[in-house]
Amino acid sequence: MTTIAENLQRIHSRMARACDEAQRPHASVGLLAVSKTFGADAVREAALAGQRAFGENYIQEAVDKIAQVRAMADVPPLTWHCIGPIQSNKTRLVAEHFDWVHTVDRLKIAQRLSDQRPAGLPPLQICLQVNVDGGETKSGCSPEEALALAQAIAALPQLQLRGVMSIPDPQPTPEAMLAVHQRVAAVFAQIRGSGLPGLEAFDTLSLGMTDDLELAVQAGSTLVRVGSGIFGRRSYPAAPVA
Ligand SMILES: *Cc1c(COP(=O)(O)O)cnc(C)c1O
Repeated sequence: MTTIAENLQRIHSRMARACDEAQRPHASVGLLAVSKTFGADAVREAALAGQRAFGENYIQEAVDKIAQVRAMADVPPLTWHCIGPIQSNKTRLVAEHFDWVHTVDRLKIAQRLSDQRPAGLPPLQICLQVNVDGGETKSGCSPEEALALAQAIAALPQLQLRGVMSIPDPQPTPEAMLAVHQRVAAVFAQIRGSGLPGLEAFDTLSLGMTDDLELAVQAGSTLVRVGSGIFGRRSYPAAPVA
């Protein structure tokens, strides 16, 4: 077995244990493999070990990698999630090449993604990025803005609003980290319970990374985004710049 396959198994065990402790079904939490900075061969290894959903931060890197992986005859179809910050001049590439976008935090970007989504493709699956712990310089809308933004995004024709995503800063204690995750989960629950039209598929709380996936599952995450725990340490800094 490759290291990547072993790492995937280890992450799935951690997820299963976290689900057991939270008394949640194992199938209620999915795994997004964050392959930023790693090449097409690493994605292939993970795919051959059964992983199907991949997350990327840097648009051009991702577009090149997606094409390389598609050309590999032994790799099954994969789902690609954009989890990096999106500038207006990159929305067309995102709309053309990705299946999901987790980092929508303003209407202008959502509008462009909807306008630029090619007609032959299914709607782009969208998570609203929420910032529950940072200042105004950090990506993500405020919890107060989230419901109105969700309503506006849900009305766009080529987008399907799927849920909420957040990248909370590390906290000094597990209790503090859990509390921050729970604030994100509360925003998710507020939108889900709102009765807004266009929320038929609103089922995704994208929360938790390698170091805090257990706490995120405890708070209700349905999709953990794991990079270094699968692929190893990244060789250049890859945290999204706020
Ligand atoms: C890099 C990244 C991850 C994965 O982080 P790890 O700590 O390597 O698991 C998850 N989500 C986002 C948005 C990221 O940028």
